[in-house]
Amino acid sequence: MTMDDPVPTTERKRRPRYSGTHPHRFGEKYKELQPERYPGIVEHVRQQGGTPAGTHVPILVAEVLAALDPKPGEVVLDCTLGAGGHASAILPKILPGGRLVGIDRDVAELERTRARLEPFAESLSLHPVSFAWVESVAAEEGGSFDGILADLGVSSMQLDDPERGFSYKEDGPLDMRMDRSTGRTAQHLLASISEEALAGALTELADEPDAAKVAKAIVGARARKPLQRTLDLVRAVLSAKGYTLATWKARVKEGDTGLHPAARTFQAIRILVNGELDALDRLLDAAPRLLRPGGRIVILSFHSGEDRRVKIAFRDGLRGGLYEAVSEESVRSTPTATRSNPRAASARLRWARMPA
Ligand code: SAH
Repeated sequence: MTMDDPVPTTERKRRPRYSGTHPHRFGEKYKELQPERYPGIVEHVRQQGGTPAGTHVPILVAEVLAALDPKPGEVVLDCTLGAGGHASAILPKILPGGRLVGIDRDVAELERTRARLEPFAESLSLHPVSFAWVESVAAEEGGSFDGILADLGVSSMQLDDPERGFSYKEDGPLDMRMDRSTGRTAQHLLASISEEALAGALTELADEPDAAKVAKAIVGARARKPLQRTLDLVRAVLSAKGYTLATWKARVKEGDTGLHPAARTFQAIRILVNGELDALDRLLDAAPRLLRPGGRIVILSFHSGEDRRVKIAFRDGLRGGLYEAVSEESVRSTPTATRSNPRAASARLRWARMPA
């Protein structure tokens, strides 16, 4: 080294301190968030039955491939690219000659996945939009596809990061937008939605059994102080269910590992904030026009409101002669797969095929 060379920086950031033997908060999971610096950690967390922070384990991959049946030379549209888990399984099947068109409305995530899929760059075409605009994307991409995949909802990366506001486990801003460049946040939605509309959404979008009580508690809480943080919302839901934050935490410590009382509320509000059912309806409506002869569509849904829409659209498409065949029953994850990937527990796969 000569005197003119820049001095190497020796200062290293100390690891975040956490109590106990394992990190619990997202920000403490520094190893999982930098897998390239800590090889082996991702595999370790998976073996323990968890999903490493900042990663996403794709669901029902073998079943998706079986139903989508991608072949060399085909053009496949992945409407929910996410971390590119399914895309990475599909790409080798459509090469040589094939092309994967990927959509995700989360621009930051789309760019990370673009980098991850760099080896396939020549066979890849990515669009940072909602799949509600699938027909415009198709128009830019030659008009039609051999396969269409949608793995609905949010990714583990989005759920895990408290700053996104999807998590009821840690405090963060009440955002919940998948696309942070546009639209109203959960905070804005919760400031104005009527008690009746909220109760309706809790029932329809999340099967919340205490919908009326929860809606009343949320509206009551916001009258006292605007809800700005995820924990403000969690507190309001807990109060409707007879808990405070402290009594709920005590219950968790005693080993109550059931569904978090606020889980359904967070799901319903997230679906409203992102207009998820409207986007799904538009995709289901457009699909028969966008699929080539013999083309296949595969949809993974995560709650009854979504699954019902998919089931009805495919059934009507079959009756109307648009589709040649559709899945009879939804395909579910096996207990073993669910154990190593809890997000798989509520997943349902349905498919439909065009006449050849
Ligand atoms: N199959 C992916 C994971 C998908 S998770 C994988 O294996 O890695 C769902 C993704 O869909 C998220 O990244 C979310 O931002 C995106 N998404 C959800 N609804 C969307 C919509 N209407 N338009 C575009 N992207 C959407």
